[in-house]
Amino acid sequence: METKNLKFDTKLIHGGEPSPLIEKAVTMPIFQSSTYEIGESQSGEINYNDIKYVRLNNTPNHLAIHEKIAQIEMAEAALVSSSGMASISSALLGLIGFGEHVLAQDNLYGGTYHFLKEFFPKMGREVTFFPLEDINKLPMLLKKNTRAIYVESISNPLLRVPDLKEVVRFAQGNGLISMIDNTFPSPVNFNPIPFGFDVALHSATKYLNGHSDVVAGAMVSRKDLIKKVTPLFNHLGGCLDPHACFLLHRGMKTLGARVRYQNESALKVSGALEKCSKVARVIYPGLRSHPDHLRSREWFRGFGGMLSFEFAGDAVEADTALKRLKIPFLAPSLGGVESLYVRPATASHSSLSKGDREKLGIKDTLVRVSIGLEDTQDLIDDFTRVLN
Ligand SMILES: *Cc1c(COP(=O)(O)O)cnc(C)c1O
Repeated sequence: METKNLKFDTKLIHGGEPSPLIEKAVTMPIFQSSTYEIGESQSGEINYNDIKYVRLNNTPNHLAIHEKIAQIEMAEAALVSSSGMASISSALLGLIGFGEHVLAQDNLYGGTYHFLKEFFPKMGREVTFFPLEDINKLPMLLKKNTRAIYVESISNPLLRVPDLKEVVRFAQGNGLISMIDNTFPSPVNFNPIPFGFDVALHSATKYLNGHSDVVAGAMVSRKDLIKKVTPLFNHLGGCLDPHACFLLHRGMKTLGARVRYQNESALKVSGALEKCSKVARVIYPGLRSHPDHLRSREWFRGFGGMLSFEFAGDAVEADTALKRLKIPFLAPSLGGVESLYVRPATASHSSLSKGDREKLGIKDTLVRVSIGLEDTQDLIDDFTRVLN
């Protein structure tokens, strides 16, 4: 079915699906075959360019999911991988060459930050980190060898939204490749490519799959940039197994329904948390009190399923109170059907010193919550019981 001109939820279900159906199966079957017989060209010669192999990410399960992801991100092409970090590291290494330089937002996902800080220089690349608030100072950080700029659509765990318009304008004005990690909003709430970014990256482990049972990643971009990254990516070997492709493919079909529910639920839970006596501050882009609320309302279709709050008390008291929660699990990761919470000081940001965390605005009493698909009122009751 031609789905390119249909709406988001129809693309989620029918985009990239085989047509005609394979053996009339209404869902994409799993092709659990590592290698494929080599075909012939039209003139009957063996076509040695037609090699299909799982590590080359070109088997039927890959092709179907690439097309589906490209369509929902309104992009030309997509490339899945074995984890968000496989996509992020391969895209950075593939697009920023030896001796070249990247400007990166300072408060990045921990894995991305450490990769850029510790390993990028050892691989002959340069990086300069800039604070989110200093986007107007970017021209001063520009070097002759600057090749790209890297940001996240919503930062973790303070849920800040950079001035994405300015990032795109700056990149276009200076011939840089603009790259954005779009994991937190998911394509339901934001599409970076039509907004003007060159590359969008996903930890598909999170919202795209949505069921906490797969680790996967995706790079979304123009055909030429995907083609540029592919040879290195194929050799680094971060391919997604066909069975994991199938699970991700299945999970994605409910992405729209899930994230819209999570948008609504997270907004209601944050409103309820604001009234709790043991909550000092609630951080959610959908709240008027959030510093980037207006920007989020203008650019995003929803505010997402992630919220954070500061506990009124010390970290030990926070742990004692939150242990009494019945529904959310204390666990890292996000974007699944079950609600999860974590104190970033003990998890994603534990490798930073307390001083460095506080400089970023991350207190030890900060709690990050990933809202799942449980009944909203049950979640509100659970949180308000332990936080009053
Ligand atoms: C989880 C996450 C990643 C890393 O993804 P993996 O699938 O765990 O490799 C990257 N960016 C963001 C924003 C994430 O939340």
